[in-house]
Amino acid sequence: MIPYGRQDISQEDIDAVVSVLTSDFLTQGPMVPRFEEAVASKVGAKYAVAVNSATSALHIACLALGLEVGDRLWTSPVTFVASANCALYCGAKVDFVDIDAKSYNLCPVALEKKLVDAEAQGLLPKVVVVVHLCGQPCDMQAIRKLSHRFNFKVIEDASHAIGGKYQGKYIGGGQYSDITVFSFHPVKIITTAEGGMAVTNDPKIAQKLQLLRSHGITRDPALMTHKPDGSWYYQQVDLGFNYRMTEMQAALGASQLGRLDAFVSRRHELAARYNELLDGLPVLTPWQHPDSYSGFHLYVIRLKLNELTASHSEVFDSLRAQGIGVNLHYIPVHTQPFYQRMGFKVGLYPESERYYSEAISLPMFQTMTEAQQDEVVAALRKAIDA
Ligand SMILES: *Cc1c(COP(=O)(O)O)cnc(C)c1O
Repeated sequence: MIPYGRQDISQEDIDAVVSVLTSDFLTQGPMVPRFEEAVASKVGAKYAVAVNSATSALHIACLALGLEVGDRLWTSPVTFVASANCALYCGAKVDFVDIDAKSYNLCPVALEKKLVDAEAQGLLPKVVVVVHLCGQPCDMQAIRKLSHRFNFKVIEDASHAIGGKYQGKYIGGGQYSDITVFSFHPVKIITTAEGGMAVTNDPKIAQKLQLLRSHGITRDPALMTHKPDGSWYYQQVDLGFNYRMTEMQAALGASQLGRLDAFVSRRHELAARYNELLDGLPVLTPWQHPDSYSGFHLYVIRLKLNELTASHSEVFDSLRAQGIGVNLHYIPVHTQPFYQRMGFKVGLYPESERYYSEAISLPMFQTMTEAQQDEVVAALRKAIDA
């Protein structure tokens, strides 16, 4: 089976992890801050806070922006469930904004319309989580304009997008948002096994993120309510969690980060080659905005079903039967039973639902060979003819 995504682990990565295992610290040592500084400097952010998953990063990002009971968070229906669940962890309400037909990212036109309606009813969101689907950045400039006009905070869920660029600058630099979140799950662009990071340029937000990832405990006298009782002293000043990253994870991440640009440029090569190989087939290849340099976590095609006899699921199943580990990113979140129970109905976000009825993620990972890619395309031809 050719998987849809796979990590790329070098001997250097292995050596980096092994050397941590024989060091003094397995957690809360020097590697985590080193990895944080490396990511911050790579993406052009002032602060970075490493955690044990992007899901945790989204949770504490929402809390750091003050999301709480009675507040609203909006996101795209076409994302992993974590981009929406983070609101519910804070006791806030979730709502969705339909996607753009070309980029498959949250549509700024639909967002503006929904904001105008929400303002009239006094139901504006406190936070909007925009998702850079497949690694292609959202229209951040338009979204930031709306965030200033309607007074909401912006979190970039860049789980797919580390190493990608918007308007020539690395995603995560925070020109148009408050916090950016990365995932280091093994299928993503660089990995720490499990792991995530939140980056920001705001020192207050960074401080809050640091507190929340570790029980709300501080050893910094400046954050305490009174002078430390002694050198042993720490204070719990907030309710936080144990969302810490281990030293092994950070060592792996720092080592992987050194190859980030090479990983992304290899993904671009594969994408360009897919575009050529798929030319003339009844599929839509990924459209790219001119402002965007995608991280290309995913390569998603859409079937032109009116030109096909086979159905979406027949093509998908045929590919799987031929050993191609295709996937579907994503089942629109509002159609999940958990969200249906909250009152969301199928039909609410037609562009997202149309996307879902046609999309297939083809295998895409940096160690993929051209022979494997040819195999994927040959299998797709066969699946489409069937
Ligand atoms: C993978 C992913 C997450 C969650 O990442 P974890 O590190 O597995 O918690 C969140 N949002 C999106 C869009 C993702 O793809």
